[in-house]
Amino acid sequence: MERLEALWKYQELDLLVDQYNLEKKNSDSRQRLLKIKNYLIKQEQNLVSMDNNADMKLDLLAKLHQEYSNIKDRIQIQLAKLETDEVLSLEELDELTKEGLTLKNNIRKKEEELEKLTQDLKKFQRRLDDIRKRVASAKTEYVEVKKDYDAEVKKINEELLKVKSQRDKIGEEISKPLMAKYKNIKSSKSPVISLLSDNQCDGCFMSLASLVIQRVKDGKKIVECENCGRILYYRESEESIPS
Ligand SMILES: [Zn+2]
Repeated sequence: MERLEALWKYQELDLLVDQYNLEKKNSDSRQRLLKIKNYLIKQEQNLVSMDNNADMKLDLLAKLHQEYSNIKDRIQIQLAKLETDEVLSLEELDELTKEGLTLKNNIRKKEEELEKLTQDLKKFQRRLDDIRKRVASAKTEYVEVKKDYDAEVKKINEELLKVKSQRDKIGEEISKPLMAKYKNIKSSKSPVISLLSDNQCDGCFMSLASLVIQRVKDGKKIVECENCGRILYYRESEESIPS
């Protein structure tokens, strides 16, 4: 029975190790760090897509400026024609006036488009500044919370190391095959060892056949619960009245 008692003690410490690890994983500061990290990743993606968007808008602005200056050049040419001493026919004059009106219309439209795009870019820039500010303050917060987290983890790790070394010391007394079995079961369920109590497996609460109970109490062989696969252990102190 001694080997199972050692394994039982090993398990107690092993569960404590799990608990410390869980504490680290669930710590408030860690959750906050993850939240800030996710926020930063999202904003980073946001900035990249805004950057692409800004490039597009700037290209459009350059194109509009070009179109605007083309129309202006054309108007200059028309005006120059009107200012020469050349005698124009009525048709030519009509043509010039007509084109002049169209050009005037077009340039007004371009001016409107330019104005709209400029406002758009200003709005865009404000949004960008806003995001950058928020990202900067999130980063500052991250550094602060990280300090808390590091302190928290350091404290837990100190305890964790102590318990781990106690556990591993006991582990040295346990045979390799038994330890391998323990670890194998542990990979799918925890705790690994179930106590026999009221003729039941206290891991899954299944009632055990009297033959099984006897074998567990004999302690000559390792008996696993047929239902849940845990190693069954009978501890005198847990059930003082023998059945
Ligand atoms: Zn069971």
